[in-house]
Amino acid sequence: MASVTGPEIDRLIQLLARLPGLGPRSARRAALHLIKKREALMTPLAGALQVAIDKIRVCETCGNIDTRSPCTVCTDARRDPSIIVVVADVADLWALERAGASSGLYHVLGGTLSPLDGVGPQDLTIDALVSRAHDPRVTEIVLALNATVDGQTTAHYITDLIGDANVRVTRLAHGVPVGGELDYLDEGTLSAAMRQRTLF
Ligand code: ZN
Repeated sequence: MASVTGPEIDRLIQLLARLPGLGPRSARRAALHLIKKREALMTPLAGALQVAIDKIRVCETCGNIDTRSPCTVCTDARRDPSIIVVVADVADLWALERAGASSGLYHVLGGTLSPLDGVGPQDLTIDALVSRAHDPRVTEIVLALNATVDGQTTAHYITDLIGDANVRVTRLAHGVPVGGELDYLDEGTLSAAMRQRTLF
């Protein structure tokens, strides 16, 4: 098929199509939009990408993404160093922070154990978590992992490994979402909510 654009624009479309949520069609629309908004959007975007390339790094302590390492969360003196919230991905850390859900520190695993996808313990930052769990300042490890088979497998694996550390291991509650209606919940969620009922 003959291309209607030069190789440079084709390349831009191909790269955009690799972004999550964008297929070839939406990548073409995004590319066209960027080209039309060259001054207002494409130039600032290119600048922001260059800054990201130059400055953004992974926090050596927790695995968060920031412009410095240790990151802003790890160096915030107002946070509670006795609690470490374990998440699979940076997106989960950001979600918990948006919710203001915890004042503790974090540990990003870099994924969850998944034998089917070939993800083993060596692919995650589990060793670093085990050594952080033995830090005498730490009293609680919160496993904020997905309520999926892989997430729960990972939670069990970690719990076994840090069994000898002097910490309380907790996990997020499973149950009725805020604003949720019982009639719409799946049976697994509903029975978990009933098992984990709390005193009113
Ligand atoms: Zn950090």
